[in-house]
Parts: sequence; structure tokens; C-alpha cells
Amino acid sequence: MTDPILDIRGVCKAFGALQASQDIDLTVRPGEIHALIGPNGAGKSTLIQQIAGGLRPDAGRVLFDGCDVTSLSTAARARLGMGRTFQISSLAMDYTVLQNAVLGALGARGDVFRFFRPVMRDADLLAQARVALTTVGLDEFEALRTSELSHGQRRQLEVAVALTLSPRVFLMDEPMAGLGAEGSRRLMDLLDGLRAEAPILLIEHDMDAVFALADRISVLVYGQIIATGTVDEIRANRDVRTAYLGE
Ligand code: ADP
Ligand code: MG
Repeated sequence: MTDPILDIRGVCKAFGALQASQDIDLTVRPGEIHALIGPNGAGKSTLIQQIAGGLRPDAGRVLFDGCDVTSLSTAARARLGMGRTFQISSLAMDYTVLQNAVLGALGARGDVFRFFRPVMRDADLLAQARVALTTVGLDEFEALRTSELSHGQRRQLEVAVALTLSPRVFLMDEPMAGLGAEGSRRLMDLLDGLRAEAPILLIEHDMDAVFALADRISVLVYGQIIATGTVDEIRANRDVRTAYLGE
């Protein structure tokens, strides 16, 4: 079997007396969408923040492409190719779609202090931004102000901004939240195609989306992974049905 891109080993995190992550092992392999599901408060966001670098584990290690990144900053992990989308929008609403994508590409270079106008004439950055916009299906909308996009299109743009990093893995915390049926379907199509480019660790509440997209699913309950398996294995797992699917 190919080596995992992400290898989470024995990660623990407590908030006071609350054990939010209890000895968590999890891998994300090339080409896969690995869904992380579990009830509210199970510790899903806490885990993804420890992977991305926003929270430091009390114990355990995060290996990214074979390197121990446990003590690296969020920015350093991003430069190594950890792409993420945020639950809360990080887009500049008054800027155009293209400008947001260029800003992403600029950030990916670690070059955020350059003046903005010359940046918009930088052929490499523009090309990189346009490739990302085409990938997410927003190339026709590059001149629109971001505030004019629908909620779903803003999510697509967030994915485009993350793509300008040329990520080796994507971390996504409930990217479908708040989207209507059409927006969800578009984003699902996008994620479906993205996994070939970079595997995705996907936190998602919508079970239809998870069962349609995931190659593997891990189930987190009270800070512990109670099962990891394929869609069929998870659907048939008695513990999962009792603890999470409410059967
Ligand atoms: P999920 O994303 O699965 O809904 P979270 O990871 O957000 O769950 O939260 C897991 C548990 O940890 C919850 O009980 C939450 O209240 C608690 N928690 C999360 N962040 C903090 C924090 N910074 N300080 C204290 N408790 C926290
Ligand atoms: Mg959460």
C-alpha cells in the first residue's frame, strides 16, 4: 500500500477535564476522500486544527509526507502544502473573484508585502489564479466582485484560493454547511474531481454527501475514533449505528 500523505499518531488534546482528542490515529492516503463524521462536540474541528497547526496536541504526532510537523506553525504547514478551507469565509468581499485568487497565489509564495497593483500585472500569478478559477468552474466570473457571488460560489472560490497553494492534502471543515441543494451538488462534483489532485480530509454532516463521496470514513465519538472503514463497512457497523446514526 502507498504511504499516507497524512499520518496522525496517538494525538491527545484536553480542554480542562474534557478529553477532546483521545489517542487518535488516522491516515489520509493519496487519491482518497477520507470523511470524518461524528456528533456535534465529538472533537472533529479540534482534530483538524491540530493537523493544520492552529492547536498544539498534548501528546502524539502529526506526520505530513513522512515529516514530523507537530511543532510547525500553521503558515509553515501551509507552505509545505496543507491546503484548507475555513468554516468562516476568509475572502475579501470588495475585491473581484480574480483578485482574491491572485491574493491566494501571492500568499502561497509567502510574498504578501508586495504592492497590490503591480501584483495584478504579474503574469505568473495571474496564470496561477486563473488555472485555479477554471478548476472550480468560476473562470467566467473572474471580474465580478466577490460580494456578488452566491454563497455556493464563494465556497468554490475558497477552494480556488486553497488550490493556488498546489496543496498536497486538503483539510475541509464542513464545506457544505449552509449551501442549498444546487450549491452542495456543485461542491460535491468539485471535491469528487479534486481527490485525484490532492487527497481530502473532509468533515461533513450531510450523510448523503459523505456516503456518495468518501473512499473511507472515520467515526469520532467523544474524542475517540470508534471505527474506520469503507462506506459499506461503516454503514454495516453496529457500534456506529448505535452511537451515531441513532438506530
Ligand atoms: P465538533 O467539531 O466535532 O463539533 P469540537 O472539536 O468543536 O467538536 O469540540 C469538541 C469539544 O471540545 C466540545 O465539547 C467543545 O465544547 C470543546 N472545545 C473546543 N474548543 C475548545 C476550546 N478552545 N476551549 C475549551 N473547550 C473547547
Ligand atoms: Mg466542528
